Amino acid sequence: MKTILITGGAGFIGSNFAHYIYEKYPDYRILVLDALTYAGSVENLPVDICKEFDNGRFQFWNGNVLNAELVGTLVAESDYIVHFAAESHVTRSIYDNKLFFETDVLGTQAIANAVCKYQDKVERFIHISTSEVYGTAESGAMDEEHPLNPMSPYAAAKAGADRLVYSYWSTYNIPAVIIRPFNNYGARQHLEKVIPRFVTSVILDEKLRVHGDGQSSRDFIHTDDTCRAIDMALHAPQDKVVGEVFNVGSGQHRSILSIAQDITSIMCTDKQCWVHVGNRPGQVMRHTCDYGKIKDVLGWEPCVDWDEGLKRVIRWYSENEEWWRKMLWMRGIPIITAEGKKELH
Ligand code: NAD
Repeated sequence: MKTILITGGAGFIGSNFAHYIYEKYPDYRILVLDALTYAGSVENLPVDICKEFDNGRFQFWNGNVLNAELVGTLVAESDYIVHFAAESHVTRSIYDNKLFFETDVLGTQAIANAVCKYQDKVERFIHISTSEVYGTAESGAMDEEHPLNPMSPYAAAKAGADRLVYSYWSTYNIPAVIIRPFNNYGARQHLEKVIPRFVTSVILDEKLRVHGDGQSSRDFIHTDDTCRAIDMALHAPQDKVVGEVFNVGSGQHRSILSIAQDITSIMCTDKQCWVHVGNRPGQVMRHTCDYGKIKDVLGWEPCVDWDEGLKRVIRWYSENEEWWRKMLWMRGIPIITAEGKKELH
């Protein structure tokens, strides 16, 4: 029986990945380590931990990735590690950036140190980085060689973590693979993120808040596709992936305004139900993924197309109001701009 440690497994992508592994690999033992910050919830896990702490296949550890002793104990038992735990919201990083550097950089260091220490046991360490490390696209589609120009404290912290893992591979030869997902969407995403915020605004008959003119564009990939890519990187032959960086995205970018239009046209008849608010400081203007490397090396390609993915997400939020009602107050994040203006983003 293989043991897999998933950090941040009570958050959005981490919980989708925990469900994916739980369903796909009945012979794997899953350990989830999560601090349960505002972004994590035990409701997201694939088993009801009120009923069972250890059902033989699944254990939940409510702890911090900065706790080196606990991290060491869990890593020592693990064949595979997938490290999602992070502070993940760009806007929050504008007013509370210390926490981002602590969790995202030093938390990753704690995991990487433990992987180093237990290298005889650990077969693969997947570090979940992000496309935000690139900053605004300097070329059409961005491949893994695109310069790293992080534009927000979140992106800078993730760039630090990304290069930290690379340096540990280069220095200590740890079995690390770095995945850079582009923007993810899917079930159980926190309401602070744009797609759930828009969908729930329509359900509540409120205006959608669009940053700036809404022309900044992102490459959105469904979490099911991301989970499949991570699975492939986890199980690929070592010489194909260790020490490598892989982008995971759809290859298409769409503007935030066009996303507002797509959501409103699926969900309501009033085509003008959005308002424009101030632009987000440190805004990335465009991200478009070049996923050629992961396609060539692992044969991965996105499967969930935008229309289908968006309909699935709208259905999920429509059917799970109890899950998201309690986080409504977190949809707007107050920030102070460089000019000293207070804005709700
Ligand atoms: P999320 O905010 O939904 O979940 C993060 C999880 O980490 C939460 O469950 C939280 O409780 C946990 N956590 C936070 N600090 C912790 C700590 N100190 N110790 C232990 N657990 C802690 O984030 P997400 O959107 O699921 O993102 C997961 C990972 O994927 C992050 O590393 C993020 O940078 C990366 N990523 C996200 C996206 C996206 O679009 N959501 C895109 C690219 C990369």
